[in-house]
Amino acid sequence: MRGRIVRGIAGFYYVQAGSRIYECKAKGIFRKDKKKPLPGDYVKIDILDEGTRTANISTILPRTNELIRPAVANVDQALVIMAAASPAPNLNLLDRFLVTMEKQKVHCCICFNKQDLVEEEEKVRLLESYRNTGYRVLFTSARQGDGLEELRQVLADKTTTVAGPSGVGKSSLINRLQTGISMETGEISVKIERGKHTTRHSELIYVSEGTYIVDTPGFSSIELYGMEKEELQEFFPEFVLWEPKCRFAGCAHIKEPDCGVKTALEQGEISRSRYENYCQLYEELKDRRKYRTLRQ
Ligand code: GDP
Ligand code: ZN
Repeated sequence: MRGRIVRGIAGFYYVQAGSRIYECKAKGIFRKDKKKPLPGDYVKIDILDEGTRTANISTILPRTNELIRPAVANVDQALVIMAAASPAPNLNLLDRFLVTMEKQKVHCCICFNKQDLVEEEEKVRLLESYRNTGYRVLFTSARQGDGLEELRQVLADKTTTVAGPSGVGKSSLINRLQTGISMETGEISVKIERGKHTTRHSELIYVSEGTYIVDTPGFSSIELYGMEKEELQEFFPEFVLWEPKCRFAGCAHIKEPDCGVKTALEQGEISRSRYENYCQLYEELKDRRKYRTLRQ
């Protein structure tokens, strides 16, 4: 039988097959497939006991991708949630998240929740910050139910990893989406219980057939692992368009004269907050390199 791992805890994997969830072990998998099962994996299972819903994972099917943070397989896109206010959006943290997803080649959508707490001007300011980036920006209110239809459309038929700092309303939004299901289909056979205590593990939440969200633990800071300062600019999609206009090959867009990116910034084609966050991350990567060399 074929199924999908929705979560893994302490050597047990919970595999959804149709409307059932089986508790599985993965005996012999590592020796055979040379890899550990991950949430999101499509697997073949052998039923041990239908009554107790226990099974063994016999094969991990090929992955389309594999993220490191969060550790999850077969993800189509990422959704990053910030609050439009309370807590005030931290665009530096948001840009860090976007950079790590670009590096992992995962397309991202941005959602500002709690839109009920801000005026139109603030929404325009947030939108402007991501103008020309190619990222879709949504505004929602889990409290008032605004923007949920658009959010559902973004999620439909995909597996989306959902992340954000705590307190932005991620749980409220997810609950809203799940309520939507119970109203539409009348019965949720595979609604996965969300524990009160937040886990350190990622888990897949079934939204509707073919639609899953990967709930990841809230974060308060993001380190840029394994990244060189020279490659950082590749992860700012709107910079790539202007780079050919730079006079110097390998321009870092910081102190160099005749820089296409800085010209775009002056013309308002690239937002100041994005540019400033780029510069800050660049400096951080530069310092880290220095630090590493000193220690060697
Ligand atoms: P999480 O930590 O990101 O999962 O955030 P929660 O879903 O627990 O929400 C944090 C707080 O924000 C709670 O007090 C929610 O009631 C509140 N909240 C969530 N969504 C909204 C919203 O759209 N508008 C407003 N005003 N408050 C919200
Ligand atoms: Zn440049």
